[in-house]
Amino acid sequence: MGSEDKIVDVNFESLLRIFTVPEAPDSTLGNIEQKLSQNLNQFLREHIVAEEKPLSEIEKDFADPAIPELPTFVSEHTQHLLETVVSHSVHTSAPSFIGHMTSALPYFLMPLSKIMIALNQNLVKIETSKAFTPLERQVLGMLHRLIYSQDDSFYQHWMHSAQHSLGAFCSGGTIANITALWVARNNALKADGDFQGVEKEGLFNAMMHYGYKGMAILVSERGHYSLKKAADVLGIGQQNLVAVKTDHNNRLCSIALEQKIQQLKTQGIKPFAIIGVAGTTETGNIDPLEKIAAIAQREQCHFHVDAAWGGATLMSNQHRYLLKGIELADSVTIDAHKQLYIPMGAGMVLFKDPSAMHSIEHHAEYILRKGSKDLGSHTLEGSRSGMAMLVYSSMHIISRPGYELLINESLKKARYFADLIKKQLDFELISEPELCLLTYRYVPQDTQRALQLATADELKTLHQYLNELTQFIQKSQRENGRSFVSRTRLTPEKWQRMETSVLRVVLANPLTTIEILHSIIEEQRIIAQTSPFVLPKIMQLTHIILDRDPIE
Ligand SMILES: *Cc1c(COP(=O)(O)O)cnc(C)c1O
Repeated sequence: MGSEDKIVDVNFESLLRIFTVPEAPDSTLGNIEQKLSQNLNQFLREHIVAEEKPLSEIEKDFADPAIPELPTFVSEHTQHLLETVVSHSVHTSAPSFIGHMTSALPYFLMPLSKIMIALNQNLVKIETSKAFTPLERQVLGMLHRLIYSQDDSFYQHWMHSAQHSLGAFCSGGTIANITALWVARNNALKADGDFQGVEKEGLFNAMMHYGYKGMAILVSERGHYSLKKAADVLGIGQQNLVAVKTDHNNRLCSIALEQKIQQLKTQGIKPFAIIGVAGTTETGNIDPLEKIAAIAQREQCHFHVDAAWGGATLMSNQHRYLLKGIELADSVTIDAHKQLYIPMGAGMVLFKDPSAMHSIEHHAEYILRKGSKDLGSHTLEGSRSGMAMLVYSSMHIISRPGYELLINESLKKARYFADLIKKQLDFELISEPELCLLTYRYVPQDTQRALQLATADELKTLHQYLNELTQFIQKSQRENGRSFVSRTRLTPEKWQRMETSVLRVVLANPLTTIEILHSIIEEQRIIAQTSPFVLPKIMQLTHIILDRDPIE
């Protein structure tokens, strides 16, 4: 469309048009829209540029802080988006991008999400959401039942009860975790005699009234960083988010938990919440939930399970036993935008007790009237979109057995990849996959022998070099642009808890094939073997060690 002979000017007439008249089918936007609905993945493959453009270059496209004084044609702007944004986006749904929890999306969500956006319902109150409010309550009921398996009469009674809520739908695991701990904090410091409760009087008066020197939350050292934010905003203090040691499988060590609790109590600090992680972000391991539940009950602590990533495993009848004990939790976080394959912005927290959220209830006269079914009275967030509809739709379209198949396949693929790594003489599996997440690193075969014979100092040095190598591999692979794995740092027991850089993969994309897995480690091996600086250092030290202790 020849836009150069058209002048766009700001007048009310043309502004009205953008709210009413769709773009012509042959406009750029019309074309893009058509291609998007035909084959989105193809479209993205063609438009996302594989090679890395330095961020500093990309920033130049976004350098002007002035809000434009002249309007632009939608078609023109769409072209601009293609060139500046789409082309330099990350292809999160590429089957060879196995580094993140941000997942591929089922195709049907693209057209369905348009319904959600077009209706623009606000879930904060029923006046602006109508059917979306009962829909969201049903979605919360579905997830509640998935975790707690109450009977039909329970859900008939509570799911749509104006005075109760089975949980809260929110933007993600961070807000879900904050909400759970907010409820826990307010219940631990509730009104008592003259004291009107922490929500009215604040933490200082609460500490004075209850005679505590502080409040503590306990979680394994693999806890997600969102919990630090929660400790901060709730006034608990990040220092009072107490990290508990993990065992060789990255699972919370229950003896260490009991010791920490006793220590805190002798200091006059009240442990009020214990968190079990069901699928840690770094290694995918699951804490011993039943044991933690028993300790939490004995200590009268709120028991929260952070299953933001791993919670979807409950969809699999074959594997849900891995999360045994989750049904004992007072609250559970699940992110639908991770393993339930929903677009970002779909987190949930579920409470076992339908009355639990009373401790954070908020009412306002013009909105959220008492006794209304408004969901806003139980959410940290105010205005909220109808994301729950996408969860609702996926539950229907994919169904529970469909999700089970997806989960089972992911777990099988992770098991396959772990075995594949173990078969390589120059790779080392660092954490076994309990779900579909595993970590590993590249270690030349000779160096693996040298690590066994090294002195303490040599071991440390070799380890540092190997960390550099892992970082180099991960970075180079990302820059090559064909595939992507992520990287994190762990402290494995096997390596005396030395900081160890590891490659991390999350195998949730159903389109990731066995061939892709093979080619990913082959690429990593080639990068490692041709690394110009690090590998020579490693081999030099390796040979010093091996020459000194020749094996007979
Ligand atoms: C992803 C994740 C979170 C945070 O969720 P967001 O949706 O990113 O806010 C919290 N806990 C765990 C275990 C996670 O994996």
